[in-house]
Amino acid sequence: MATPKIMVHGGAGSWQGFDEDAVLDGVRAAALAGWTVLKAGGTAVEAVEAATIPLEDNPLYDAGVGSFLNELGEVEMDALITDGRDIRFGAVAAVRRVKNPIILARKVMTETDNCFFAGDGADMLAVQLGIPLVSNIAMISDAEWAAFQARQMAEVVPAGHGTGTVGAVAIDVDGHLASATSTGGTLNKKKGRVGDSPIFGAGGYADDLLGAASATGIGENIMRFLLCKRVVDGLGQADASTAAWAALDFLTSRIPKPEAGLIVCGADGSLGAAHTTAAMPIAWVNADGTVQAAMRTRR
Ligand code: ASP
Repeated sequence: MATPKIMVHGGAGSWQGFDEDAVLDGVRAAALAGWTVLKAGGTAVEAVEAATIPLEDNPLYDAGVGSFLNELGEVEMDALITDGRDIRFGAVAAVRRVKNPIILARKVMTETDNCFFAGDGADMLAVQLGIPLVSNIAMISDAEWAAFQARQMAEVVPAGHGTGTVGAVAIDVDGHLASATSTGGTLNKKKGRVGDSPIFGAGGYADDLLGAASATGIGENIMRFLLCKRVVDGLGQADASTAAWAALDFLTSRIPKPEAGLIVCGADGSLGAAHTTAAMPIAWVNADGTVQAAMRTRR
């Protein structure tokens, strides 16, 4: 029997100008939601899904409602859930009309013969799997709409930055591992652009023999290096924190400013987080059930 553990992140980024207390409250509530599942004997997959849903529903984060709008003012969301028992995953990309993409990703994994759906086909599949569609407009937060309008008036529009992708890693009482990752992508992304988050091995990975990971940051940098596969492979020789930093140090040695972050749970129950961005909010639950949250700043 293993001691259940969970850690969540709210996205690597600058986090400048955000209400830090509100951001930490959000990740704390998410960790608690996942922990409640684990404590009741639920699986790691159920726990990471349960932890991700409130973050998708919270407009402070770049996932679900509150996702960054693309250059046309639309929400396009990506999500990935992984199951370390038999190294399985379900993923969706560029979904536009599903309130909680992580629920759809899980159903792709558990209720279809496939692994990955994208675009309109993913939205259509949601209906077939019993998930009601919402309008794309319902996914747009007031703050993101105001930011989109400001971007339209600006002479130079920043693009490519992230802040607020969400993720979770967990180990359950039976020692099974899982990860979840959900995002609206990067600021002012092009229509159809998909980052690392739904890509197995890049945005998330889990293997019961080693551990589980969820990544965040600039997807174009993360996916080239299959960052989550790399960090989980490193768990053979190191605890979660050491492996997380080693993976990011490697990334930094190959890309000058990778702008990436990781949360990791080892098969030994160790938890770790690392990031190269200015900040990354995380929350986790101690063995005694107390929830901790922190706005991590660069080491
Ligand atoms: N990794 C996400 C993407 O590239 C964004 C982020 O984590 O901030 O779509």
